[in-house]
Amino acid sequence: MNEKIWLSSPHMGEMEQQYVKQAFDTNWIAPLGPHVDGFEGDLVAFTKTGHAAALSAGTAALHLALILLNVSAGDEVICQSMTFSASANPIVYQGAVPIFIDSERDTWNMDPELLREAIEDRLSKGKKPKAIIPVHLYGMPAKMKEIMAIAEEFAIPVIEDAAEALGSTLDGKAMGTFGTLGVLSFNGNKIITTSGGGALISDNEGYIKKARFLATQARDAAPHYEHSHIGYNYRMSNVCAAIGRGQMGVLSTRVTQRRRNFDYYREHLGNIAGLSFLEEPEGMISNRWLSTILIDPKVAGITREDVRVHLEKDNIESRPLWKPMHMQPVFKDAAYYGQEVSRGLFSNGLCLPSGSNLTEKDLSRVVSRMKDLLPTG
Ligand SMILES: *Cc1c(COP(=O)(O)O)cnc(C)c1O
Repeated sequence: MNEKIWLSSPHMGEMEQQYVKQAFDTNWIAPLGPHVDGFEGDLVAFTKTGHAAALSAGTAALHLALILLNVSAGDEVICQSMTFSASANPIVYQGAVPIFIDSERDTWNMDPELLREAIEDRLSKGKKPKAIIPVHLYGMPAKMKEIMAIAEEFAIPVIEDAAEALGSTLDGKAMGTFGTLGVLSFNGNKIITTSGGGALISDNEGYIKKARFLATQARDAAPHYEHSHIGYNYRMSNVCAAIGRGQMGVLSTRVTQRRRNFDYYREHLGNIAGLSFLEEPEGMISNRWLSTILIDPKVAGITREDVRVHLEKDNIESRPLWKPMHMQPVFKDAAYYGQEVSRGLFSNGLCLPSGSNLTEKDLSRVVSRMKDLLPTG
């Protein structure tokens, strides 16, 4: 059996262990600590945002963002349908109701026209959405200028789910810094990892201070434990932040490496009929967290599932694109606005191995296995 090629595996640099060793040497293993502050500073510097709170997960960041925006039981929150379930689940944690929006074809993200249609329809039904959650799938920025213009017109705050898009930009500005609040993730499969973690970023210092307060069990200032709010245990530990500090040092290199994967696949598979790649629209730079392709079975003569299974036989991990939330059993009763663009992407889309640690030999093996099946010419 050939060696396993993973979809996206952790890739450590030189410094992570030294930062972790520092945490051990100073016995700073507990939550909070100097590495947490340092990591937050690194995130602020990299994204050129005002403030950052390092948390236990991207999901925790999304949950706190909703709480900060006072989303509560019965409220409606608009969310991109095509995404990982963690974008939508925290809406339900709050007892609120998700309203799903289809994707457009240029970025595969929230369609601004459908966003407007949905807001106007919800308003006509007597309910104003409390927040909007666009997502930058696979690192490709959503059309944030259009989305922010609509959000501002209707005065609805935006929670930007940039969990997959650290290192991506729109007009040179970091993803996660367009919305009222931005969400990052450092889960094991993301472009950089703290083994598990996330962050909330914003120019609004009040929000970030409150996020830190809520994330540490909402302890009021008192020598004893005093609480006037419901709190959460959502803070990042000093050990995880130590890994994060090392990873921030290699983030730019990781973006280059992931983009190289995409360029390699496009160069070697770009001429195959029925196979297509998502190009970057004007002004957008994707970190290419995952390299994705669409396979049109009518032209290629095979489905994305044929390709996935064939790769698997050679110990190569690939995965269908995210299955849209409006197609998920758990959200089957949710409102949805769209023309099934995301359904089509899910049917025909595949994520190829995309780790920054892939070698040219790995990439060449993936391409060869794909060429076994696809008509080249
Ligand atoms: C990974 C991810 C999350 C959740 O982040 P965790 O750190 O795993 O909790 C949220 N949204 C999207 C789009 C993601 O890909």
